[in-house]
Amino acid sequence: MASISTELIHHPYTPPDSFAAPQPGVFKASTVIFPNVAAMREREWKDKSGYTYGLHGTPTSFILEERLCALEGGTQCLLAPSGLAAIAIVSLGLLHTGDELLIPDNAYGPNKTLSEGELRHWGITTLYYNPMDPADLAAKISDKTRLVWLEAAGSVTLEFPDLPALVRVCKSRGVTNALDNTWGAGLAFQPFDLLPGSGETLGVDISVHALTKYPSGGGDVLMGSIITRDAGLHMRLKLAHMRLGIGVGVNDVEFVLRSLPSIALRYQAHDATARKLAHWALQQPEFVQVLHPALPNSPGHAHWKTLCARGVDDVAAAGPGNAAGLFSVLIDPRHTSAQVDAFCDALKLFKIGYSWGGPMSLVVPYELAEMRTTWPAWLAKGTLVRFSAGLESAADLQADLQQALQKLHS
Ligand SMILES: *Cc1c(COP(=O)(O)O)cnc(C)c1O
Repeated sequence: MASISTELIHHPYTPPDSFAAPQPGVFKASTVIFPNVAAMREREWKDKSGYTYGLHGTPTSFILEERLCALEGGTQCLLAPSGLAAIAIVSLGLLHTGDELLIPDNAYGPNKTLSEGELRHWGITTLYYNPMDPADLAAKISDKTRLVWLEAAGSVTLEFPDLPALVRVCKSRGVTNALDNTWGAGLAFQPFDLLPGSGETLGVDISVHALTKYPSGGGDVLMGSIITRDAGLHMRLKLAHMRLGIGVGVNDVEFVLRSLPSIALRYQAHDATARKLAHWALQQPEFVQVLHPALPNSPGHAHWKTLCARGVDDVAAAGPGNAAGLFSVLIDPRHTSAQVDAFCDALKLFKIGYSWGGPMSLVVPYELAEMRTTWPAWLAKGTLVRFSAGLESAADLQADLQQALQKLHS
């Protein structure tokens, strides 16, 4: 070889074929080499039969896609650089000028902002429906409706909809539905088989998951997935994904692959802690309402039980069934918003910050009136504070909440 640069680039050594470690290799690429021009022309990028370009996948990203399909019970998966990007690909891929989009009033806020800030300029109209009333969804579907977003439980307020009923409305009207399944994470219920063993096969069309939360589990990766069980629907989304140039970094894929085997254990731990704290919160006079779908008085509890605690008769404290690590409280309106802020500031283990799913507990006070078209009748008046239970000890977290409550009275 003429120069060291050329020699280093074209060095002939190749490692032995079968490196038998249990963990998948981390394959990163933009370019993928073809043996000849004919092979380049023949290679198909649209399925997993070969590799064409890093943006279309590497062995490492294909493995994550397949494992996420296993987690959620789907057959095709697309990866996006955040949960919000995954939401955006679904809406952008399926909607055109003149179409209508339906979003639940309690949806993840940035899904609404995307619709109002971007889709509106392209002549796509968004309507909001009451997720606790399938008849309201039915009434708002028109012949222009092309997509219905679903979410269970609702963001921040955690009311649990009758998801099978909402899906049935969409199916009966021939409208594609997409579930934001970040809360359920493929563990609380099966999005593509909502009522297993019931004799009725009922599932969502699309499941979007913010992998940023439980699949990452570390609070250090942003990623999203779009899972389907329909090759045609997948291809429409895949074309939008490709045309927009959406891809994910393989180092981030590696992190999610490393965390995925412990997701069920972590989910159970977050769940058990959140239930203990939610039960404790019920006893505190400062909290006029506690929102957690496994609490009998929380809105939609019966729907949660049907979906997430199937076959379980007695859903006791920290008992059977599955729920994530989130709960919200409404703080008695006698306390000023400055006092509520002081309560949040006084927390030592619960840190103030967005997102959830990592080891650290988090807290966010919300201005709910600005987030909803109407204040739901079942929701008490007061300031809403949402907690996300991390993996710390439940007793330590409870003591932290207890000490911070003093600030509400000072
Ligand atoms: C966090 C979250 C998202 C967005 O995920 P990012 O990766 O932060 O963009 C979407 N939906 C729900 C319900 C979420 O909690």
